[in-house]
Amino acid sequence: MVGLFGRLKKGLAKTKASLINNLQGLVRGRKLDDEFYEELEDILIQADMGIDTVMEMVEEIKEEARVKKIGESEEIFPIVQEKIEEILLEQGGGLNWAEEGPTIIMVVGVNGVGKTTSIAKLAYQFKKEGKKVLLAAADTFRAAAIDQLELWAQHAGVQIIKHQEGADPAAVTYDAVKAAVSRDVDVLMVDTAGRFHNRKNLMEEVGKIKRVIDRELPNAPHEILLVLDATTGQNAVSQARSFNEMLDLTGIVLAKLDGTAKGGIVVSISKELNIPVKYIGLGEGMEDLQKFDSREFVEALFEEASRGEDDEG
Ligand code: GDP
Ligand code: MG
Repeated sequence: MVGLFGRLKKGLAKTKASLINNLQGLVRGRKLDDEFYEELEDILIQADMGIDTVMEMVEEIKEEARVKKIGESEEIFPIVQEKIEEILLEQGGGLNWAEEGPTIIMVVGVNGVGKTTSIAKLAYQFKKEGKKVLLAAADTFRAAAIDQLELWAQHAGVQIIKHQEGADPAAVTYDAVKAAVSRDVDVLMVDTAGRFHNRKNLMEEVGKIKRVIDRELPNAPHEILLVLDATTGQNAVSQARSFNEMLDLTGIVLAKLDGTAKGGIVVSISKELNIPVKYIGLGEGMEDLQKFDSREFVEALFEEASRGEDDEG
C-alpha cells in the first residue's frame, strides 16, 4: 500500500526528474553571475512557472544571495526551494462546507480537462468519509457524458440526478438541488459541459447553472471549482482567467500533474491568479486526487534533491 506522500512523489516524478535535475546541473560549481541567473530563469520558465513569476522570483533570489553573501552556487538551491514555498504557502485550504443542509459544489472547465473523473474521485473520497453524496449530470451535451458520470456514480456507490441528452443543464441542476435538500444529502456535485457551441455560450451556460443554484439555496454554491489540465501549461492560466470573470471561482483542481514534467504550473497559477489550488490530480486511480498541501508539495518535489541523492533509484 502506497501512502499519500508516496503517491504525491510518484505523481510529481516527471516534474521532479526534470526540474530538480536541471537545477542540480546548474548549481554545480558555478559563478553567481548574470549568466547563471539567466540559466536559472530558463529552467524555472521551462517548468512552466510563468515568465512574470519567474522574473520576480529570480530577482528576489539574487537579492537574498547578495544579503546573505552567498558565494557558492550550491547554496542557491535551498533559496529556490524557499521562494517556491513562499508563493505556494498562500495557497491551499480546504473546501467551504455548508453550515447546515447540503454543500453544493459546482465543477467547471473546458472539455477533457478531468472534470468528470475528478468528481468521481471526490465522490469516492466523500463517501469513504461517511458523507451522503449526490451527483448532477448537468453536462447534457453528449449522451456519453451522462453515461460516464452514471457509471462513476455506480462505482462509487452514490446517487445521481440525470435527464436526457440535450436537456437544459439548468433544469437538471434545479432538480438536483431540490433532491439534495429533500434527500438530506451532505454534498451535491454538479458536473458541467466543457464544450458548447462556442466559448460565449459555454460561459452563459455555466453562469445560468450558478444562478439556479444561488436562487434555490441561500449561500450556494459553496464551491465553484475550475478543473485545469496541468499538461496544457500556460493555456490553463488563461482558461482560469475567463472562467473566473464569469463565475468568481472559489478554487482550482489541477488535474494530470502526473502527466507533465512542467508541474511548476502550480506556482504560476498560484502567483498569477490568486485563486487557491485546492486539489491536485496525480493519476487515474480513485485515490489519485489529493488536497493540495503546499508544504508537502514542495517537500515531495525537493526531497533529498538538495543533498544530490537519487530518490528510490
Ligand atoms: P472532462 O471532459 O473534463 O469531464 O474530462 P474527464 O473527466 O472525462 O477526463 C478526461 C481524461 O483525463 C480521462 O481519460 C481521465 O482518465 C483523464 N484524467 C483526469 N484526471 C487525471 C489525472 O489526474 N491524471 C491522469 N493521468 N489522467 C487524468
Ligand atoms: Mg465530463
